[in-house]
Amino acid sequence: MDRYDDIVVGSGVSGLTTALILGMNQRRVLLIEKSPAIGGSLSRFYKKGIPFDTGFHFTGGFANDLVLLDMLSVLSIKDDIQPEFVKYPEDNQFIFEDQNRSFTFHQGFEQNKKEMLAYFPHEKKAINTYFSKVKSIRENTKAMNIRADFEMQPPMDEDSISLKEMLDSLTENKTLKTLFSAFSMCHGTEPSKISFANHSRVTYSLYESIARVKNGGNAFIKAFKNRFKKYNIDIKTNTFISSCEDIEKRKVGTFVLNNGSKLKAENCIFTIHPKEILKTFREENTSRAFSDRVNGFEESIGFFLTFIRNTDKNQKPFNPGITTLYPYNDMNKMFDPQLKEDLPLVIVRNSEKTKNGNINLINAFELSHWNHVKAWADSSTGRRSREYKEYKRKRTNRICKRIIKAFPEYKGYLEVIDSASMLTFRDYLNNPQGSAYGIKQKIGQFNLFGRVQYKNTFAAGQSAILPGVVGAMMSGFTICRYLLSKDVYIDFIKNQLQKN
Ligand SMILES: Cc1cc2nc3c(=O)[nH]c(=O)nc-3n(C[C@H](O)[C@H](O)[C@H](O)COP(=O)(O)OP(=O)(O)OC[C@H]3O[C@@H](n4cnc5c(N)ncnc54)[C@H](O)[C@@H]3O)c2cc1C
Repeated sequence: MDRYDDIVVGSGVSGLTTALILGMNQRRVLLIEKSPAIGGSLSRFYKKGIPFDTGFHFTGGFANDLVLLDMLSVLSIKDDIQPEFVKYPEDNQFIFEDQNRSFTFHQGFEQNKKEMLAYFPHEKKAINTYFSKVKSIRENTKAMNIRADFEMQPPMDEDSISLKEMLDSLTENKTLKTLFSAFSMCHGTEPSKISFANHSRVTYSLYESIARVKNGGNAFIKAFKNRFKKYNIDIKTNTFISSCEDIEKRKVGTFVLNNGSKLKAENCIFTIHPKEILKTFREENTSRAFSDRVNGFEESIGFFLTFIRNTDKNQKPFNPGITTLYPYNDMNKMFDPQLKEDLPLVIVRNSEKTKNGNINLINAFELSHWNHVKAWADSSTGRRSREYKEYKRKRTNRICKRIIKAFPEYKGYLEVIDSASMLTFRDYLNNPQGSAYGIKQKIGQFNLFGRVQYKNTFAAGQSAILPGVVGAMMSGFTICRYLLSKDVYIDFIKNQLQKN
């Protein structure tokens, strides 16, 4: 029977990070992935030779906020990941469709504050308080500084106040409140349910800088694959754990894979959706408390994604840019699954070099909920009904109309290449309802992180600490801090940061 130090389940950015840190610390690691290829949400796909991103379009963290750069340095992949910054205010834009009003911002936390003050001169107190609180929460969250030597993050007052409560206490101005909560689209939980602290942890770096990455998530996958070659890390795709056997003293003795092979491992780290973890353990073998806890998690929002090419030959290459359309100024309402009206739409523009020269691309993603596609939940990719295809066609047309309203110069030049619903993401990413960020980050919730169910099984991943690519990577670092022991981990981080 094959024996590993660690099995890492799931090869999105959380699993890749976890596997590499463990491998770099002389552990024998097996990384298993249910899909035919590794990368999870990082993967790009190609249609007609044109690359499109699935779950990684932009991120904060490349300027003045060390966590992402530190993590890339420690993994020795910083040089492989080239940020392409959103430089110009016209490329960092929020449009309120009902008011025909647009707000643009330069990059930089202080700069955003200054520009917000210029837009809302009578809201000085609210704006100063909001920005100083976001900054202080980010700075005092030790877990977001991988250099910090700490035992446990003490809860802050703002961990028990919702974003909505905080904003209601600051101002009555609905448009300003919507702007303050604009990046809720980047954590997927409505202002009334997320804590102000977690909102701040995700959004601080997005105020500092927003960047795309050259070659998108594929740059990460390629860099990880190269690094894996140096260490004792095996990869198995089309693979998952079908059962946990020989359980003694609450420790799994044998992990049985779907191809029937059996493995022994000191630790098994799941970086997959909590409900996928529960499925692996099998509900009937878990305590009622554990299954109730997992079944009680709500899904974060998802997206309906439309992949578009701009065919205008006279159009200059797009700068990396993001424009978000808000149909009205009430973020909580916009997260309501029953809403029949338009939903927030994020329009990401970039230019890609291909064999046929530079092409201008648009990835437009509209907020979506499971109930939008639930009727077709029993279908699978390539075998969807006519009604489902009609739903996609109509939604895509509506999205194109909204894009043209925001950018009239694109009229006649939008070539839709493909579109993807939450069903596509469910099937592609093997998560239960195709949500973008795993579970909702609800205030006071006890997420699945660290040891779960058995002594040698652990949970990490985007649902564990914070969502998004940065949050998912952080979960890998934090779980390894525990598995390697604090002292070994701290020495490892120090040495790597000195080297790189
Ligand atoms: C449409 C969309 C747009 C997004 N845009 C952004 C963005 O611009 N910026 C950003 O920071 N974040 C974005 N996100 C969120 C971001 O992609 C995620 O937070 C992050 O990549 C999650 O990484 P992960 O490793 O935790 O999970 P995933 O990337 O989902 O990886 C989990 C992996 O585990 C595999 N798996 C599942 N079950 C099993 C099993 N039983 N056994 C083995 N393998 C299994 C899956 O196939 C998958 O490969 C977006 C997400 C979506 C869906």
